[in-house]
Amino acid sequence: MNYNSVCPVCSNRDQLTSLKWRGYNIIHCNNCELDYCGEMNEKEIGGDSSPVNLQGIKMMSDLFYRTSDLAISFASRRKIIYEDFLNRPCKKVLEVGCGPGVFYKPWRDLNVEWTGTDINSYWKDFGKKNRVPISNESIDSIINKYDVVMAHQVIEHVEDPLKFMKRITELLEPGGIIHLELPNQNSLTAKLRKISPSLSHDYGFIQPPMHLRAYTEKTINYLYKRLNLSSEMIFVCGNTDHTWGQVREYSFFQKSLYTISNTLGMGSLLIGIAQKK
Ligand SMILES: [Zn+2]
Repeated sequence: MNYNSVCPVCSNRDQLTSLKWRGYNIIHCNNCELDYCGEMNEKEIGGDSSPVNLQGIKMMSDLFYRTSDLAISFASRRKIIYEDFLNRPCKKVLEVGCGPGVFYKPWRDLNVEWTGTDINSYWKDFGKKNRVPISNESIDSIINKYDVVMAHQVIEHVEDPLKFMKRITELLEPGGIIHLELPNQNSLTAKLRKISPSLSHDYGFIQPPMHLRAYTEKTINYLYKRLNLSSEMIFVCGNTDHTWGQVREYSFFQKSLYTISNTLGMGSLLIGIAQKK
């Protein structure tokens, strides 16, 4: 399917404008604020999503043990917040696009059953070697239901976000929580990368062929509304946020940059927590 004349998030046809950026045609939806490319030519094998770059895969593999140790404090803090919304203990979580599965051990230590799946079969093999139960199963064939479904750095790769989100919603128990984490197209980094194509290959977080969809808080709100989910928290934060940030070790330079952009309200991460009614 190509989305040259219809927005993949809000399905509107009348408020689309386009611009050329280094040979790419980028469409902006003036209704829901999605930036996107109409056609997705390069896809993950067996999936409807654009590929993750090899450099990122290598980095995640190399840092696995260190990040998995760091992830425990994130999981503990998130569990408290999830349970506040759930109004019951959080027992089963599903992580879609889990990569190396840094959250497996932390959730297990918190007595929460973690299921991780990733369309890239590399991670299934990685899991076997490192004793993390990662599956390669498509979300369409999962039959269990979960208290929380999380998708971190996933939806910006997905060709049809509505279909993806609809399926995720079906996988939730009543009152269950969706936790999306994605790049913020209104961040300082994104704004700098939108100044001129002669300065940046990327148009914000449109990074062909890797990321072909870029979202703002408004877009996520739109998506949740269309799926009749209750938007509980949609906000921007820095990558180094102690609860919602990305589990990584950061250099002093990175920490300073993220602190400055976040202080300006232009952090690079967008978090969307919604609840199934
Ligand atoms: Zn739209």
